[in-house]
Amino acid sequence: MKFYGSRSALGPPSAAQTTSTRPTLPAAGRQPAKRTWLFDLDNTLHDANAHIFPHMHRAMMAYICHHLQIDEAEATHLRQHYWKRYGATLLGLMRHHGTNPHHFLHHTHQFPELERIVIAERGLKAMLHRLPGRKIIFSNAPQKYVRDILQIVGIQHCFDAIYSVERIRFRPKPDHFGFLRILRNERLRPCDCIMVEDTQANLKTAKRLGMKTVWVSALTRQPPHVDVKISSILELPARLAQL
Ligand SMILES: [Mg+2]
Repeated sequence: MKFYGSRSALGPPSAAQTTSTRPTLPAAGRQPAKRTWLFDLDNTLHDANAHIFPHMHRAMMAYICHHLQIDEAEATHLRQHYWKRYGATLLGLMRHHGTNPHHFLHHTHQFPELERIVIAERGLKAMLHRLPGRKIIFSNAPQKYVRDILQIVGIQHCFDAIYSVERIRFRPKPDHFGFLRILRNERLRPCDCIMVEDTQANLKTAKRLGMKTVWVSALTRQPPHVDVKISSILELPARLAQL
């Protein structure tokens, strides 16, 4: 699969986000955890570009136009503005328009035919079972959507924990708030974690925190914040020695 140039459901990633109520890193002296994989979902474990993201984009535009009573041009401008300022459309809507995040996510993640439009690679489940270490989903998407995708792909039992955007207080990647929350909750050391992602900004945060990084991309270049670049998630076991 060719997963690249994707954006999260909440907007494009931005390295400029800041945090004000940061969870702290696990205290030194705790028992070191074994290798733990943090997997992004969209465009990492399945292809969201083909059908899901276009549908989501239309749903977000319709939601914003309807609830803010503005036209599509204004809605586009607003989304771009909030993307630049906050790294996520939803954060701007919450802060400036009092949008209820649960309401927004519910209405922008309605996929009556989700089973028909999810595209994942054959062999994904077997690969995940073979891969040694704990496995955690870390997605900017809402919980129901994440669980639905995992179930449709048949990999819902492959993960030890799921962190959706609700569990990180609607502060999506690349904000480091969610990363730190997972490290604290799961009692992980960054050096034991490997973030697997298609979005570079998210990998930059992971690298800054001391994690190892895997970039899922069809592009050939490998930026300095990427430890391993793969074009398919199925390549992971073969690249284990480099992580
Ligand atoms: Mg992604």
